[in-house]
Amino acid sequence: MIKINENYLKLQSSYLFSDIAKRVKSFADSNPDREIIRLGIGDVTRALPGACINALHKAVDEMSIDNTFRGYGPEQGHAFLREAIAKNDFQAFGADINPDEVFVSDGAKCDTGNILEILSPDLQIAVPDPVYPVYVDTNVMAGRTGPWNNGRYNGLVYLEATEANGYVPALPNEPVDLIYLCFPNNPTGATATREQLSRWVEYARANRALILYDAAYVAFIRDESIPKSIYEIEGAREVAIEFRSFSKTAGFTGTRCAYTIVPKSCVACDSSMNKYDLHSLWNRRHTTKFNGVSYPVQRAAQAVYSDEGKKQVRELTDYYLKNASLILEKMTGLGYTCAGGENSPYIWIKAGMDSWEFFDILLDKAAVVCTPGSGFGACGEGYIRLSAFNNYENVETAMDRISELLERYQCLAQ
Ligand SMILES: *Cc1c(COP(=O)(O)O)cnc(C)c1O
Repeated sequence: MIKINENYLKLQSSYLFSDIAKRVKSFADSNPDREIIRLGIGDVTRALPGACINALHKAVDEMSIDNTFRGYGPEQGHAFLREAIAKNDFQAFGADINPDEVFVSDGAKCDTGNILEILSPDLQIAVPDPVYPVYVDTNVMAGRTGPWNNGRYNGLVYLEATEANGYVPALPNEPVDLIYLCFPNNPTGATATREQLSRWVEYARANRALILYDAAYVAFIRDESIPKSIYEIEGAREVAIEFRSFSKTAGFTGTRCAYTIVPKSCVACDSSMNKYDLHSLWNRRHTTKFNGVSYPVQRAAQAVYSDEGKKQVRELTDYYLKNASLILEKMTGLGYTCAGGENSPYIWIKAGMDSWEFFDILLDKAAVVCTPGSGFGACGEGYIRLSAFNNYENVETAMDRISELLERYQCLAQ
């Protein structure tokens, strides 16, 4: 008899974005003349850099001629891209990563989920709270949690990111084996200093734990004292896997290209304490279950590292950072406590009330869509996230409306 994976029954329906969509639709239906500005969803809005488009066109032309046509490529990615990644994203920052430690893929989301497959099912897992929901749901699907219980899953260790710790979680009080970290963070926009990351690396080394480091927003870092890669921290090569993506860096959310770094020195034990390197296991998994990213897309990703591409990516991320800084300035000016907004496209705002209540006020009175923080975990309750992924004029209008509304609201509250 065919049976289902019952772990899927433990999953909480992702009410967040469908709830948002429902409320926005109902508002739009009853207010057809109001122009809604969406600062909610974490997707980029601007076109691909010209250098990437040119490379994409050129590669498509190559595919049209027999002697430049490409069929199956190496599953791990073409050498031209793996070399460009290792050199520009790691070696240039003093991180000792080689091209054969780079695994090119179609998404950091898939990789963060798929990596669980090469690890033992009985690990103690620590996730941040608030959290990028993929980390949690993929563990639930893989049967690595107990049931949902009062807003959290049994069996997971939640690393609380709060105003008190500057949204960088403290080390856990109990031993954990697998640790998810994401900096610059989605949803809080927080970044971690070299000292903070060093403490995590030390913890992982002392406890024989593995860090899964998600650096999807690395391209927004402007402060040069903030580490871009966990491999800038001494000792991380033995205890960390890093996920990166061209999605937020270069607008590839609809084009699809990402990569995962699995250093050859990262080892884990079997139940008899024999050591295995994770690189070989991931290589086996990747080559068995994945056929590589399409050739034109890998050429487009390579173009990110050309002189022209670097300049254009900088302009693209600067554009969103200008939006972020306007949102941060306005919300701070209104007296709200905020995180992020610098070195990050997200602004995490302490609402001073229930997340959904604040969401409804912004929607009903300002026609602006935000993301309620409670959708990212228990520690997100009382917060909202505003995203800088929109055009500047819309962000200006949204902030004017929000300023007017909240000034009025605050007058009434006094
Ligand atoms: C957007 C995002 C990613 C990128 O995912 P892709 O699958 O590469 O598009 C990864 N991690 C976080 C936290 C994100 O917000």
